[in-house]
Amino acid sequence: MNISLLRTTSRYLKLLEKLGILTVEDLLKYYPRAYEDRSWIRRFEEIDLKETNVVQGKIVSLENVMTKNRRRLVKGVIEESEGMAKEKRQGQTLWEQSGSDPVIIKKEKMTAEMVWFNQPYIARMLAVGEEVLLSGRVKYDYGRFIFQSPTFEKIREEQIHTGRIIPIYHETEGLSSDWLREKIKIIFPLIKKLRDFLPVDLLKEENLIDLQKAVMEIHFPSTREKLEQAKKRLAFEELFLLQLVALQRKKLYQKKAEKLGKAIPFRVELIKNFIQQLPFQLTNAQKITTYQIFKDMEKPYPMLRLLQGEVGSGKTVVAEIVSLHTIYSGYQVAWLAPTETLARQHYEKIKPQMLKLRIKVVLLIGSTGMKEKQEIYAELNQGATHWVIGTHALLEEKVGFKNLGLVMVDEQHRFGVEQRNRLATYGCPHVLQMTATPIPRTLALVLYGDKDLSVIDELPVGRKKIITKVVSPAKRRQAYGFMESEVGKGRQVYVVCPRIEKAEAQNLEQIQDSKRNDWAEVRAAKEEYRKLQEEIFPRLRVGLLHGRMKSKEKEETMHDFRVGKIQILVSTAVIEVGIDVPNATIMLIEGVDRFGLAQLHQFRGRVGRSDLQSYCFLFTDSESGLVRQRLGALEKYSSGFKLAEIDLKLRGPGEVYGTRQSGIPDLKMASLADALMINRARVQAEKILEEDLMLDKYPELKERLGKIK
Ligand code: ADP
Ligand code: MG
Repeated sequence: MNISLLRTTSRYLKLLEKLGILTVEDLLKYYPRAYEDRSWIRRFEEIDLKETNVVQGKIVSLENVMTKNRRRLVKGVIEESEGMAKEKRQGQTLWEQSGSDPVIIKKEKMTAEMVWFNQPYIARMLAVGEEVLLSGRVKYDYGRFIFQSPTFEKIREEQIHTGRIIPIYHETEGLSSDWLREKIKIIFPLIKKLRDFLPVDLLKEENLIDLQKAVMEIHFPSTREKLEQAKKRLAFEELFLLQLVALQRKKLYQKKAEKLGKAIPFRVELIKNFIQQLPFQLTNAQKITTYQIFKDMEKPYPMLRLLQGEVGSGKTVVAEIVSLHTIYSGYQVAWLAPTETLARQHYEKIKPQMLKLRIKVVLLIGSTGMKEKQEIYAELNQGATHWVIGTHALLEEKVGFKNLGLVMVDEQHRFGVEQRNRLATYGCPHVLQMTATPIPRTLALVLYGDKDLSVIDELPVGRKKIITKVVSPAKRRQAYGFMESEVGKGRQVYVVCPRIEKAEAQNLEQIQDSKRNDWAEVRAAKEEYRKLQEEIFPRLRVGLLHGRMKSKEKEETMHDFRVGKIQILVSTAVIEVGIDVPNATIMLIEGVDRFGLAQLHQFRGRVGRSDLQSYCFLFTDSESGLVRQRLGALEKYSSGFKLAEIDLKLRGPGEVYGTRQSGIPDLKMASLADALMINRARVQAEKILEEDLMLDKYPELKERLGKIK
């Protein structure tokens, strides 16, 4: 379809290009961002000064005038149309129905003025005697209604700017909604050439209108209901295509990998002993997810599964059981963690347990010595090492395996897609990704449509709800007093600050004046550490942990905290992921307004990891309504899923999960909050692929999909 059909100039074509519109089809698919209901054509006495008014009338005068201060005006008078006014009057108002005196009907025809500033050409576009529709704001002055620069449109067979529900488009400088409306109307007949790529059966089952009708109604809706139907159809199509792409990719991959796969038959006897000697009973959710994973790994193609679980729900032990089973079945296992602290924590916990079972576990991180690294590479290659736990160092090219069977990626959202997939290149191992970022299931289906999902939706028994309190500056002392008494009982405390150091004076120079104080006030870990140790808790042992410390220092600090030598650990956001010290029961967060809800929930998840009562104190002096709403939610709810839902509503998915890393799709019509529709789209995508994976029976759909990939 050729853009020249638009009958416009190259200047306008350039502007269209700016909006991403290169073809006529693009323009047809440039859907309105909003609508204005101008379908109510008012009688003149119904004009409301607080609203946009649409009236119909005859132009009785029109002239170009120059004001005293040399401004050019087009001024005119419009007279209410007789027929229009009568027709609209029938049975419309109470006083007419009740038969009281219809004073206004008897009055002579009403008129209104209209003015346009600096648009002299308007005088040429309209003529006295013409019947027009006007739409705009109205002023009442010197006993007359005056339309201020109204939109106008001559009466024609079909109105497009007034007298109906009007589309409003995203505009760019020089391209108005009025212009777009005109042009789209010109190419409207071409809608007949659009071929619907959704199968007829699907349309029927989901009660959707076809593409042509939807595109017509989305631009120029005939009624509100039709508009809703059009939106629904176009939204469904977006979600359906997303699901179709993801599911097809997954199924094709599984098919391709079928020969390469490492089917591992589930043999419960391999792990029975290990489970029995655990110091706790597995929760039901843990048992179910473990079983799902085992069943998945039996299949002839590699698993790709995302294990979601609330902070502290015990994901690690699930991964451990599965890893052990993999090793007993003759394969190697690799665990990838986002920070050295976390990798080391896993290593220190798992290594002694595996020692008894004669399984060799190694740690491979950036700070591992060169010589040691060489040894590790060699042993992984020969298969002498069964289990490697590491950070990004694991992704280096020199790393290779003899027979890698399972990759576990902890806190997977911390890695880019490429990094996450890197290890999968070692002969198609099974991949288990884990995350404590709670993503509502439906959203996860959109974001991770190509993965299978398992969810641990239950905490180990005996866990008490973490008591969460927002603490105002006035209550700070009291909170410190409480901390001291808890430490007296043998408990430990985290203090999280938004920054490592106070902003330096010269950096502050660069920050806008209005924000300078704000930044200067942000509590910094180093400063806070000094204050707490020297002034507030001189008798307690306070430690400091932040991202700029040397790996060795961090390791020592974490070790000291784990064994209780440090009682209060002051830290930055590095503490966010994965750290597990069950004896810590107080989490104190400074400057909470600097953190997102999900992140605060992660911090809180560092405590409440045993059957001891735990506390989370949120320190803020922010008065902002949004901050208060977020903190209120945190006080009230302990479920990360619930909080994620609230955060989604408050801030939108892009803000919450970050658009780029998380791959939140840019949806035009659909809402990621529409769980029902996402599910329906998923079901339909499954159904079609089940029947016809390559979509050969659906050429239009196949072609459409080709354009996305
Ligand atoms: P996360 O899911 O946040 O990664 P972890 O795997 O670190 O959680 O587990 C949190 C804590 O709960 C750990 O100390 C772990 O040993 C313990 N834990 C795990 N499963 C259970 C269980 N079924 N009963 C009691 N404690 C458990
Ligand atoms: Mg974890």
